[in-house]
Amino acid sequence: MYHDLPRDASFWLVLFSIDQDLAKSARQKACPCGGRLHCANYPRKPRGGGKDLPEEYGYRLSFCCDRDGCRKRVTPPSVRFLGRKVYLGAVIVLVAAMRHGPSPRRVAELSRLFGADRRTIARWRVFWDEYFPQTAFWKVARARLVPTVEIALLPLSLLDAFLRGDDPHEGWKRLLQFLSPITIAGDVKIELL
Ligand SMILES: [Zn+2]
Repeated sequence: MYHDLPRDASFWLVLFSIDQDLAKSARQKACPCGGRLHCANYPRKPRGGGKDLPEEYGYRLSFCCDRDGCRKRVTPPSVRFLGRKVYLGAVIVLVAAMRHGPSPRRVAELSRLFGADRRTIARWRVFWDEYFPQTAFWKVARARLVPTVEIALLPLSLLDAFLRGDDPHEGWKRLLQFLSPITIAGDVKIELL
């Protein structure tokens, strides 16, 4: 099984550079009011990344309109952060997936590996079982996946769909890019979970 996350610095830096690209295109669109977007990053203290997590992970890229009376915030999609969840998006996908499959990993083992407690891991399962399949994103995006992904096995079936090749960095990159639309407000209210 491929179910190891390449948690080395080079992997995390690749994800960061994707976030920079996503932020760049969000900024180029400007604010709907016509104002310019200024840098207004959110400080973050992500968990689950291991010892090689670069210091760039101390913030999520975000912008704020510079026009008085507007000041609207624009937060681009991310391949690193899943909404306001504390754990890195990749860890939330991986740990939930490892509870499924032919030889499910035990919660105690996952807690030791990633530092998430039992209740947190249970919430992630609720997210993948009940919440994610109902999102507008998933109802549309699902049709683009070949082979068709089994909802009953989310998110393990997503790993199966994206991590087929030999290069786990590349597979993870594509999977996290695929999921990035759900990391902004409007579809999934991830912050409630
Ligand atoms: Zn504005």
